[in-house]
Amino acid sequence: MEQRLEYRIFTYSTYLKQRFGKRVFRVGLSTGIPCPHRIKTGGCIFCDPETFTGEYQSGGLNIQEQLQDAIPRIKKNCGNVALLAYFQDDTSTAGDIDILKRKYEQALSHPEVIGLVVSTRPDYVNDEVVELLSSFDVPVTIEIGMQSVHDKSLEYLNRGHTFDDTERAIEVCGKAGLEVGVHLIMGIPGETFEDMLATIKYISSNKFIKQVKFHNLVVYKNTKLAEMISSGEASIYEIPEYIETLAKLLPYLRGDIVISRLFTSNIRRSQIAIGKFEGNKTKWMNELRKYIYKNNIVQGSEVT
Ligand code: SF4
Repeated sequence: MEQRLEYRIFTYSTYLKQRFGKRVFRVGLSTGIPCPHRIKTGGCIFCDPETFTGEYQSGGLNIQEQLQDAIPRIKKNCGNVALLAYFQDDTSTAGDIDILKRKYEQALSHPEVIGLVVSTRPDYVNDEVVELLSSFDVPVTIEIGMQSVHDKSLEYLNRGHTFDDTERAIEVCGKAGLEVGVHLIMGIPGETFEDMLATIKYISSNKFIKQVKFHNLVVYKNTKLAEMISSGEASIYEIPEYIETLAKLLPYLRGDIVISRLFTSNIRRSQIAIGKFEGNKTKWMNELRKYIYKNNIVQGSEVT
């Protein structure tokens, strides 16, 4: 039998097919509002905004211009797909509520956009923005930067929020009917396998969490993390170690939770300060698939 990842884990492409019944692609957009945490505190130690801003999102383009710029490229590469407007840069719920409303509405007014995905921090999830997001008559996913259940790790990363903040944000969004996704970093310096397992077990126990994005920690130039790791204070996972760790955690992740990412996306080699990350995402996915089959791993098989 053919060995496919989607036979062992709940992939995002499977979810999209089930949810929308057609091929769907996310078009990355930016509100253009810088992350307040970065402005106020210097930001998370791993964050370099240059690494997550696509060319078509920079340059102060408004939402229509960003869409006009991005959609032809998507159609060229992916064919005739429907689109989800994905506000992924910075903290996409930060800013004046009327400005945010206008930006989300501009994206949703495009005839090919059939849903909204908004990425943010737990401490920028408030009643006003949740009310706005849940007022749209299309599927809306909110992605919350959770990273870990351990406050010591959140402090290490200078996240500027606690796990309690994350729990509250998840609950508020879940109760409002938004589809809740969380971002996790696997391999935060100082975290053991047991620490990561505790995070995964928490996710499986939270009924509001429907999607997870896994990230391997990437050390970019010009970040505090690069300084810290260069001094020998900590180390990060290379890809083989990350794959093994992630694969061993998957049985503890509830089977109905969509895995919408398995590796940090769009790593630009010229921006990396530390680590080799040999190969590319296709190769890593292939390695992960082989490891999963070799070790007979199935998402959710250890959830009781
Ligand atoms: S919350 Fe996101 S955008 Fe803001 S500093 Fe942290 S990683 Fe960067």
